[in-house]
Amino acid sequence: MAEKAFVMIKPNAIKRGLIGEIIKRYEQKGLKVVAMKMIKMKKEQAEELYKVHQGKDFYQPLIEFILSGPVVVMILEGPRVIEAVRSINGETDPLKAQAGSIRGEFGISVRKNIVHASDSVQSAEQEWGIFFEENEIFEYLCGFENEL
Ligand code: UDP
Repeated sequence: MAEKAFVMIKPNAIKRGLIGEIIKRYEQKGLKVVAMKMIKMKKEQAEELYKVHQGKDFYQPLIEFILSGPVVVMILEGPRVIEAVRSINGETDPLKAQAGSIRGEFGISVRKNIVHASDSVQSAEQEWGIFFEENEIFEYLCGFENEL
C-alpha cells in the first residue's frame, strides 16, 4: 500500500483564506488526497495529537491555539509522502523555512506555523486515527490512471 501522511491546516491559515493555496501545493506535487474534512477539534484530540510535547513551555499555548478555530485535517498518499509533505511545508520556524515552502511563504510565528504534518509512518497512522474512521479513507485512481 502507498505511504500515507496526516496533514492539518491550522486555524490561522483557515482564517487567512489559505485552504485552497495549501491544498493546491500538495496536489500539484502529485500527492493524492484520500481523506479530508473541516472540524473544530476537541480538547482531548488536541492533547492526543501533541502528547509528545506535554510538559514543554509551548504546549499549553499550542493547545489553546489549535482549539481557537476550525482546522482542516487530511490524509495524503504518494511515494515518500511523509518526506514530500515536510519539504513542501518547510522547517518548523517559518523564518528559517526554505523560500518557496508553505511556512517560508506564509508563516511568521513558530506556534502559528500554518500547517502540521506527521514526521514518520508510525506517527502518521497514530495521528490520522485520532480524526478518521477507516470508512472515511478512500482508495481511487488519480489523474491519467483513470483515462488510459
Ligand atoms: N511549536 C511551538 N513552539 C516551539 C516549537 C514548536 O509553538 O518552540 C509548535 C509548532 O506549532 C509546531 C508544533 O509545536 O508545528 C510541533 O512541534 P514540532 O517540533 O513537532 O514541529 P513540526 O513537526 O510541526 O515542524
